[in-house]
Amino acid sequence: MLSKIDELLRETETFLTTKIDDVETFRISMLGKKGKITSLFNDFKNVPNEQKKEFGNKLNELKNKALDKITELKLQLETETNLASGMDLTAPAANIKIGTRHPLSIVRNEIIDIFKRIGFTISEGPEIEDDWHVFSALNFPEEHPARDMQDTFFIEKNPDILLRTHTSSVQTRVMESQKPPIRTISPGRVFRNEAISARAHCIFHQIEGLYIDKNVSFADLKQTLLYFAQEFFGENTKIRVRPSYFPFTEPSAEVDVTCSLCGGKGCNVCKHTGWLEILGCGMVDPNVLENNNIDSTKYTGFAFGMGVERITMLKYGIKDLRLFFESDVRFLKQFKGSF
Ligand SMILES: [Zn+2]
Repeated sequence: MLSKIDELLRETETFLTTKIDDVETFRISMLGKKGKITSLFNDFKNVPNEQKKEFGNKLNELKNKALDKITELKLQLETETNLASGMDLTAPAANIKIGTRHPLSIVRNEIIDIFKRIGFTISEGPEIEDDWHVFSALNFPEEHPARDMQDTFFIEKNPDILLRTHTSSVQTRVMESQKPPIRTISPGRVFRNEAISARAHCIFHQIEGLYIDKNVSFADLKQTLLYFAQEFFGENTKIRVRPSYFPFTEPSAEVDVTCSLCGGKGCNVCKHTGWLEILGCGMVDPNVLENNNIDSTKYTGFAFGMGVERITMLKYGIKDLRLFFESDVRFLKQFKGSF
């Protein structure tokens, strides 16, 4: 039996092939169920006890050598096959193209971060809303043009249900569920029935801000917006507040910032005025507070809302709104933000 082991050891050591199938045949002939080495293991019980140790060691050595040989040949032949077919498994992997954040997400996150630093929380509300949260609670009169079919997507079977036209609806949601002090911003998607062009789209994004507490004044609003403008557009940015009208604020205002492209000297983007309009704002109308069970004799507040697309277009000098929604990778991969 020892000589049989020696014979198989020699056979194993000298075995050589260029075909991977031969290696498998060799494995079966040696270590398969009826293989030569397997049968020696089966015969092991007949070996006299005093010789068992010597036989055992030799047999194990043979088995290990056979296994090593098979592994080595398989690896070698597989590598050769792969190289021949042009595949090299040892080569470093091709670079994976990592996606970039959408410019609207970069700007939205940057705005959120700026307001978070001064204690604003984030609130969200549903995109499919009812008339109360979008219009009535916010002091829109029954006949207000914003309710018109031209602007609002209503659900045909139930005109009380609609796609929100502004994120101000989240103000209502927050006021009915929280007590002052309230200091929150609400980023979200809004919908208007408008023809799609370079300057208008039926879907866009807004960020709403709401601050309600005792003794909140217009000066607080101006200071908050100046802080935002300088954090976002640069520390030398100035703001200009112009009177305006919104149903849910009184007084209402629109806010311009000095054009960051020309530094206020006048250029094509700011239409040679040196100013860029960035948002609407105002003091929360007492009717809105009362509609939401907040005592308007005790509390005052301010609100503001800005379009994320508009701010993003100003930041990056983008001229066509439609680019944001076309998912063109050549456009999208240009934006690398830290947010
Ligand atoms: Zn300019």
